Amino acid sequence: MKKTVCLLLACIILLMPISSCAQSAEKVSDSFLLMDTLITVTLYATPDTDTAAIFSECRAILEELDALWSRTEEESVTTCFNLAKKGPFAADWKTCDLLERALKISETTGGAFDITVAPIVMLWQRCEEEQRLPTDAEMLLALSQTDRKSLYVLGTNIIKREDGTQIDLGGIGKGEAISYLVTYLESCPIEGALVSFGSNVAVVGNKPDGRNFRVAVKNPIDGNDYAKVLELSAGQVLSVSGDYERYYTIGGEQYHHIIDPATGYPAESGLCSVAVICEDGALADALSTALFVMGETRAREFYASGVYDFEAIFITSDGVVSTTDSLQ
Ligand code: ADP
Ligand code: MG
Repeated sequence: MKKTVCLLLACIILLMPISSCAQSAEKVSDSFLLMDTLITVTLYATPDTDTAAIFSECRAILEELDALWSRTEEESVTTCFNLAKKGPFAADWKTCDLLERALKISETTGGAFDITVAPIVMLWQRCEEEQRLPTDAEMLLALSQTDRKSLYVLGTNIIKREDGTQIDLGGIGKGEAISYLVTYLESCPIEGALVSFGSNVAVVGNKPDGRNFRVAVKNPIDGNDYAKVLELSAGQVLSVSGDYERYYTIGGEQYHHIIDPATGYPAESGLCSVAVICEDGALADALSTALFVMGETRAREFYASGVYDFEAIFITSDGVVSTTDSLQ
């Protein structure tokens, strides 16, 4: 009850200045191709705002994070860590902070989300290049190297327990990056902003008319239909993980990119898409991947356990849409 009152007050306070200058705010967008993703930042700002400077800072923030976490960049922290022998690996605090949270999510999701899945992801990439399926021996080796307990963070060191431990931040880095952008945009002289990483969307402030931004979640089974249209309030992040956007094509078959760390194969949990809404971008991103792997029954048990504060939308492979309580 108290929370509702606070929220209402916050809305009233926010709405007043927004409606008073509603006439003058303009919509301006810029897009960047980074993190293997088309990123679009849309600003609602008065014409005298230096939006070019804001876009340029957004790009700089993203470039810095991409340079840290890319698995294909030769000099990235991820690549250097992956090539390092076991022992302490000195890293920057942004990476250590993200890794610490990623490992906690791994633990709480029983390994459904696991950044040490990198050897399996690389095996699938190699198999796609060579147009063949992984052999049992290759998969067993990659599975043996996938172990969330094989690393931990100590201050600004990542302790690697096994030589073969490698990390892939593809399931959490974009969400973390979106939160960095939100923090920056909140400090800018703008009315509101919408940041889209394709499968991750966040909002800052409100639209100039004072309303919340509306975001549609696609139903992949019925391409013409939306599973749900959501109103995202300031600070909320929406992350979607689906089996229909990124995949490895081998012998004409598609193998999607969300791996079940227990089997090494694309997760077959009866879901084709999961959307998570919460206030932490990294958590939204990682949980959408984790819930997809868990399947709806386990995911709902996890939700009910209350470990994290989030809401979710589930779309089964038959196109049935359901949501957690607060979204109904
Ligand atoms: P997208 O990158 O399209 O937004 P996700 O957020 O679901 O999709 O992340 C999928 C990516 O995360 C994969 O491409 C891979 O790099 C990595 N990944 C795959 N399976 C897992 C998993 N079980 N746990 C953690 N990361 C994973
Ligand atoms: Mg994700």
